[in-house]
Amino acid sequence: MTGITESPPTGGLYIHFPFCRAKCPYCHFYSINNLDYLDEFFEGVSKEMGRRDRLFSALDTVYIGGGSPSLMTLSHLEKILGAVGRHWRVVEEAEITVEVTPEGLDYKWLTGAGELGVNRLSLGIQSLQAGILSFLRRRHDAADALKALEAVAAAGIVNVSVDLLYGVPGQDLEEWLRDLEKILETSPAHLSLYELTLERGTELWEEHRRGLFAMPGEETAALFFRETSRLLTRAGYEHYEVSSYARGTSRRCRHNLRYWRHEPYLGLGPSAHSFLPPGGRDASPAVGRRWWNVSDVDEYLGRLRSGNFPVEETEELNHRSLAFEALFLALRTSDGLDLEGWRRRYGEENCLLNDRVLEAACGEGLLRREGERILPTTMGLALADRLAVELWGGTA
Ligand code: SF4
Repeated sequence: MTGITESPPTGGLYIHFPFCRAKCPYCHFYSINNLDYLDEFFEGVSKEMGRRDRLFSALDTVYIGGGSPSLMTLSHLEKILGAVGRHWRVVEEAEITVEVTPEGLDYKWLTGAGELGVNRLSLGIQSLQAGILSFLRRRHDAADALKALEAVAAAGIVNVSVDLLYGVPGQDLEEWLRDLEKILETSPAHLSLYELTLERGTELWEEHRRGLFAMPGEETAALFFRETSRLLTRAGYEHYEVSSYARGTSRRCRHNLRYWRHEPYLGLGPSAHSFLPPGGRDASPAVGRRWWNVSDVDEYLGRLRSGNFPVEETEELNHRSLAFEALFLALRTSDGLDLEGWRRRYGEENCLLNDRVLEAACGEGLLRREGERILPTTMGLALADRLAVELWGGTA
């Protein structure tokens, strides 16, 4: 008995499209603004598909992120989705998402994307306030954002997620809540609401280091988080992950659920991450494997041209490390942690919780027990990362 499964599993596919018109000052994702690489990029990704297609028998989620994938023409999109379809069977009910930005998003592109099989869009609006958009140096205004939402509805794509940022210097809570209400008038299926964080190396991080602005304090961010959750749950959305809200369970982002549940996914393109849990094909029964590609288009293409994998680094994760990760990820979701399933998957000896911390967190209203499940409350979701570290009784 080898513990290695015979047939490859169904997986999720992420494709990183690393091109943007310009760099936003807060963004730490890999992207460049030299579109001369576009054709070579598509060839590179197709080559990478050919080298990785044996990992999965089929795909049930495909996510094209970036970068700004809406810079792709319809024929680019057709090329890339066509290549996906030649390498894998894409199941009939697969979730196929493309990230888009409001600028230049038009009805023709949207209907064309729908005809090519795209059935979910993630629209990066970030704010409806001119001051905030200018601070973030976004290249669209509120009118563009609302027009984009109208175009999406007219094109008949109903599964749309809206991305917004809170915790931005100078942001006013009342204005933020009014913006949310305005967005809710368009009934998006999903909202991803991220707190602005300053990532080392970004322009904003540097400006903050030089004292050019102050970030809101922890209490302000916590107030935004609570009020946002209250408004959206009242409006019928489920707050199912720290930053994610869905209009019903069927509208949760199935691709992201893969990440949070340690299910296998493959990332293609510069800087993309992949994960195979232990025991799958191409994985040892004892360790999971995570790897990520080089964050440089030139090097990415060069490695593929010379017949190598464009991998920057590979990490092997034993059951104990995976058990900690699973705890950490589960506490960020409203489904919480199923203790029995956790122990079955990673072994009793690796799944140790600090009972004293658990009891205290339940007493403080941060967690609650439901049989064999530990669930975070809204307050618990806000503190999920810290709770996971404190609850962990093993050594990751
Ligand atoms: S458009 Fe998106 S991916 Fe591109 S730089 Fe701005 S935030 Fe980053």
